[in-house]
Amino acid sequence: MEYPHSPDVEERELLEDGFSAGWGAHHQPSERYWIDCHTHMLETEAGSVVDVIEDWTDYLNAWRFAGAVGVDGRPAVIDEFEIADRETDHFQWMSRLDYDNPSMDAIGSSLEAGACGLKLHNKPLIEAGEPPSKWQDPEWHDVFDRLETADLPVFWHVTQRLTDAPYIGQGRNKNWNQVSNSDTNYTNEDLLQSFIEIVEEYPDTDFIGAHQLHLGFDRLAKLFELYPNLYIDTSAGFFIRWGDRIYPQDRDRVREFVMNWSDRILFGTDCALHGDVQTANLRQQFLGHVRFIRQLNLPDNELQQISHLNAERLLNLEHVRDTGGDGVRP
Ligand SMILES: [Zn+2]
Repeated sequence: MEYPHSPDVEERELLEDGFSAGWGAHHQPSERYWIDCHTHMLETEAGSVVDVIEDWTDYLNAWRFAGAVGVDGRPAVIDEFEIADRETDHFQWMSRLDYDNPSMDAIGSSLEAGACGLKLHNKPLIEAGEPPSKWQDPEWHDVFDRLETADLPVFWHVTQRLTDAPYIGQGRNKNWNQVSNSDTNYTNEDLLQSFIEIVEEYPDTDFIGAHQLHLGFDRLAKLFELYPNLYIDTSAGFFIRWGDRIYPQDRDRVREFVMNWSDRILFGTDCALHGDVQTANLRQQFLGHVRFIRQLNLPDNELQQISHLNAERLLNLEHVRDTGGDGVRP
């Protein structure tokens, strides 16, 4: 259906013998709330984490923001993030480990403290000129085994973008340009394959590829077919600038992909929160990702999946709450 309406529109046709039939007949499906599964929480003390999150929520409540998952639960901040998670309804977090620190202690205490997954990033590996086969070290298998037991996902920034990306205000060859070529002789495809090996080896663990793994829809669809435990977030690629409308042809193509794979897509923005979060940049970074999803005219079910249901299911989110508002909520 190209122009879906909110399910209550249909219900009013019948309820009370159709007393309110036609009232609000134009109401479109609307996300109940957003959970941002890819936020960077750069504050490291519980009090500041809570302040920043509450401040961010105050503004974004009007856009139906419910909560953020901070993907920076490094070993040094576990205790502080645990406290922050307890003190606000709008924050949960993932453990974060670097390729050279597959620490069972850290992953164990993170999970005990309420981490809802593990975030990995290939950037430090690339910059150090280390091979992607590092992830096959037995120590990493112990960590992946631990995640499997906890039934929590791995959120992984796997590949790096080449070319410029001026539409999202970014420059050339992100992360690759810091690499000294003499040390690094592998490609994005090698990084992707090393990731897929792990995805294959752990079919009971969910893997979320950040930034759509920098792949187009055709290749993503093929991977989704092969690996039922593979997911993507919406960050960076799924973005519409202020004032833009997605072209109809692009919308049709994107929409077909999103409708087919709506259970594999998690809303995420990559917003980095610290200090003053009330900046136009940060607000537009969040809203540009909202805008993209909204311009697809998704039916209610798919819209709820992507905006929050998939995140709640995969990350087993318990503490993120939508606190709503009074009166008509935009
Ligand atoms: Zn990120």
